[in-house]
Amino acid sequence: MNGSAVKHYMETAFPKDLAYEWDNVGLQIGTFNQTLRGIYVTLDVTKDAVKEAIEQGANVIIAHHPLLFKPLNHILTDQYKGKVIEMLLKHDIAVYVAHTNYDIAHGGMNDMLASKLGMEDIKVLEYTDETHGIGRIGAYGPKTLEATIEDIKTKLNLNAARLITNRSLDKKVKTLAISGGSGSHHMAMAKFKGADLYVTGDISYHQAHDMLQMGLSVLDVGHYAEKHFIPAIKEGLREAGIDVPIHESTINQDPFKTV
Ligand SMILES: [Zn+2]
Repeated sequence: MNGSAVKHYMETAFPKDLAYEWDNVGLQIGTFNQTLRGIYVTLDVTKDAVKEAIEQGANVIIAHHPLLFKPLNHILTDQYKGKVIEMLLKHDIAVYVAHTNYDIAHGGMNDMLASKLGMEDIKVLEYTDETHGIGRIGAYGPKTLEATIEDIKTKLNLNAARLITNRSLDKKVKTLAISGGSGSHHMAMAKFKGADLYVTGDISYHQAHDMLQMGLSVLDVGHYAEKHFIPAIKEGLREAGIDVPIHESTINQDPFKTV
């Protein structure tokens, strides 16, 4: 099987032109024009992830977060990023990224997370074109805020999350909004559309104050909640008839430890 089968599946399911303009998605290293030996799926292309991909004999890595994002001025192989690129090139490993196009696509990150949380009547949170958009909003529960938080932690398999709220924990949550990854830009839309709780990640101190001021309750679940990307991509590749070994990264670790 040729590597182009992976490209065909990914670009049909999660078209690259859905991605934001500032993003960098698609093939970032190597070529698909080679015999597919194995696929390694990961959130981040770290040195440990690449090592594991090499050990598993994969020659295509599919990642959610871009390896190459800002322009590189140099590739120094005694530094972290240059070393990662060197390892990939030496082992003929291609890196393919599906980032905001995966978040936005129908059946991508946000649809997957919304259905994992048991949301119903799921709609786009903020449109990016006539039919697509980032984040989802839908009916939920109702459950108390306290029970909602426990439910989300269980369903997304999280040890911890950060809560930003003025509301009491026994208030009911009926409308839930979610945007996997850094969703602080969509806080006004979550408030406008009536979310009782907005689930996202990467909230800064000042953004948290803005959320409190506008009366929006937010649960910061970090980027690591996006780990569900890994089994979802594997399942999609299998359904598309890709029959080489597909390895789920075991390296993805939340860089934050709650201490
Ligand atoms: Zn992310």
